[in-house]
Amino acid sequence: MVEIKEESPDFIKFLGTAGARFVMIKQLRASGGLWVCRGSTNILIDPGPGSLVRCANSRPRLDPGKLDAIIMTHRHLDHANDINVMIEGMTEGGFKKKGVVFCPADALGDDAIILEHTAKFPEKIQVIKAKTRYRVGNFSFLTSMRHIHPCQTYGLKFNLNGASVGLITDTRYFPELTSFYKTDILIISVVFLEKRLGIDHLSLNEAALIIKELKPKKAVLTHFGMTMLKAKPMVQAQKLSQALGIEVIAAYDGMKLSF
Ligand SMILES: [Zn+2]
Ligand SMILES: [Zn+2]
Repeated sequence: MVEIKEESPDFIKFLGTAGARFVMIKQLRASGGLWVCRGSTNILIDPGPGSLVRCANSRPRLDPGKLDAIIMTHRHLDHANDINVMIEGMTEGGFKKKGVVFCPADALGDDAIILEHTAKFPEKIQVIKAKTRYRVGNFSFLTSMRHIHPCQTYGLKFNLNGASVGLITDTRYFPELTSFYKTDILIISVVFLEKRLGIDHLSLNEAALIIKELKPKKAVLTHFGMTMLKAKPMVQAQKLSQALGIEVIAAYDGMKLSF
């Protein structure tokens, strides 16, 4: 008898691959964040500008009312601009108290990025700290050490259908990064083609260093700034694949990784 394996529902959908200000402002790439589905649990990570629109235009459509949680890695607008409207979406306009919002402490308080008005809608606003595990429904994730970036910033590690996934969000390169992100699938925010001193973002060479050391089964480059876009992310990813002997791909808007 042939055993038919049930297909896993787990996936990551890229609702945007724009990194930093100008690619976002010009919308050369979309900036809607990542939709992650684990079993029956749906999570939105980093809802930047246009996240709501990207959900509505996805095929099949992604319904914010089905979200169980929203995770903000840090408060920069390319990661957080649509957080309030997505909270409204998750809570059916604020009429249904549900879901959890995970964010660093500096997303709240003075100059809060989450409005007092919308903060009342979810079941919980959970402040995230370094190297801590959090859980919602079927999904659990571990936060990284604090990244080197102008505001409180944490990357994530989680599992989808048995595969470990790392998400290196915005950070300056520092060698200890690799101590956390050993995973099967490694998603890396690569804003710059060449290193720029004084700006806390990864460049392509630094991403290559990380991939070379961690040897994931697959590395996914995303969050592209202007210099990366001009250098054609697909071409750069192919070059890295050949140089490192590891599968490296460049994410594109609407790309879905199934698990
Ligand atoms: Zn960013
Ligand atoms: Zn940032």
